[in-house]
Amino acid sequence: MPNSGDLQSLASSITAVTSPFRNYLNDLYDKYRSLNEGKVADYIPELALAKPEWFGICVVTADGQMFEVGECQQLFTIQSISKAFVFGLALEDHGREYVNSKVSVEPTGEAFNSIVLDEATNRPYNPMVNAGAIATADLIKGKNSTERLKRLLEMFKRYTGREHDINVPVFLSEKSTGYRNRAMAYLMLNFGMISDKIDETLDLYFQQCSILVNAKDLAMLAATLANGGINPVTKERAIDERYVQDVISIMLTCGMYDASGEWAYRVGIPAKSGVGGGITAVVPGKLGIGTFSPPLDAKGNSIRGIKVCEYLSKDFGLHLFNVAKPERDLQQWLVGGDGINDW
Ligand code: GLN
Repeated sequence: MPNSGDLQSLASSITAVTSPFRNYLNDLYDKYRSLNEGKVADYIPELALAKPEWFGICVVTADGQMFEVGECQQLFTIQSISKAFVFGLALEDHGREYVNSKVSVEPTGEAFNSIVLDEATNRPYNPMVNAGAIATADLIKGKNSTERLKRLLEMFKRYTGREHDINVPVFLSEKSTGYRNRAMAYLMLNFGMISDKIDETLDLYFQQCSILVNAKDLAMLAATLANGGINPVTKERAIDERYVQDVISIMLTCGMYDASGEWAYRVGIPAKSGVGGGITAVVPGKLGIGTFSPPLDAKGNSIRGIKVCEYLSKDFGLHLFNVAKPERDLQQWLVGGDGINDW
């Protein structure tokens, strides 16, 4: 007579075999795991340690079903993906008008680390380029650096449902080599766009980039936005619902660095990538996608991650502006995921 534990694991293995969406993701994974293009980020030695073959795909629906394939537990640094979420916190701290007086929302078409400000207003172009992200980090409230970092980490916990650590060697490397980011901060201080707590703000920025996440966390971050700012598993609110659209729209226009226009055109799913190899992508009202694969293209986006999002978008008609009948009906495919209890 099998015990209830055996029955449970039998049930979940049957689910794993029969879920059409998981099978679909397995096929995508198999198709792209052997795609050996791109280059792992190596501007600091710690990032160069990432294995090019690491590859994970996780999808979490807005009602909390989860589907994962590959290396979804492997931790890596969130890097630029943090920028979208810290922007959300800055909006909660100060409101739209004030934040917008410090950081514009215009795509640049320039590389993420370019040293350029809007000539008319001296504002950085958007919160997704480094200058704009540093100006955004400057806005995070807290009575000292510890409290500001604590607020950031608590925010990420609300989105993902778990505690996050900082990769300290990455943080220290970013801090000791980040002259370009330091230059941007001083340029913005010169124009009175940020406060004079430069070292504290840069530390916060380098720390936010060094937060450790896995592909599941990226899917949860996105699924929480897709679900109107409420984590679909814990049911905790991660961000004021008024600002969810701000975060998602900036992801669409600026989230994929200077490939954002092409991404919006071809994939049409608001997303943010990081040089650690992650992509988080939000299909509003439906689901969140998290992908992890370290090799990047020339613009800094994960090559396998791009492919996965492209195919999901095409096969299930997930492009925001798609009005044609998709090849596959998402609702019919999304059966048999791991429910909230299996999380
Ligand atoms: N820490 C990196 C930097 O500031 C962020 C890079 C990224 O993911 N684009 O340069």
